[in-house]
Amino acid sequence: MQFISRAQWGALPPDHTAREENGFFHPQHNPGGWLVYTRPLTELLNTLVIHHSAEDAGQMGVREIQRLHIEQNGWADIGYHFVIDGVGIGYEARPLTVRGVHVRAANTGTVGIVLLGNFEINHPRPAQLDTLEQLVAFLVGQYPGLTHLAAHADFNEETVCPGRNMLPWLRPLALRHYLQYGTEGYQMPTWSQ
Ligand SMILES: [Zn+2]
Repeated sequence: MQFISRAQWGALPPDHTAREENGFFHPQHNPGGWLVYTRPLTELLNTLVIHHSAEDAGQMGVREIQRLHIEQNGWADIGYHFVIDGVGIGYEARPLTVRGVHVRAANTGTVGIVLLGNFEINHPRPAQLDTLEQLVAFLVGQYPGLTHLAAHADFNEETVCPGRNMLPWLRPLALRHYLQYGTEGYQMPTWSQ
């Protein structure tokens, strides 16, 4: 699986002064902070969460999304772990060793994957779906604790993410990789990382 590395796409370094992810994780003083996992990812990662970027024209690339997440959302870095652009090129985004910011109240141990496009209106392209398939296969092979795959909307009912034209692809995708579909694999953090 070939994904464009952060160095290759020119990622900005994480901004640890970012207002919404201000500084490093602390169980009491900063539970929302930048959490570098200390437990092995093979145990900790449990659920893949699929998103769309929801912008119609597809003009935003991975750099623009990172800048938006840092400057507008106030996060330390791009919220997702992987980005698949409109022609199916994959990018490493937030390091997998760091908790993402992509799903409300279920970020610890979940992997955020976004496909660029608005799949309420448009359809995911075959090249995007191919790359997603390869990424899921790779992650399931690397991290045996992954048991589930879900849509963002399965966790957070206020969103339609990743869009009506993407949703039908997800359950079959999960089943092809021997994952269960849905949110039941998520484990609430105990902060005993
Ligand atoms: Zn989403």
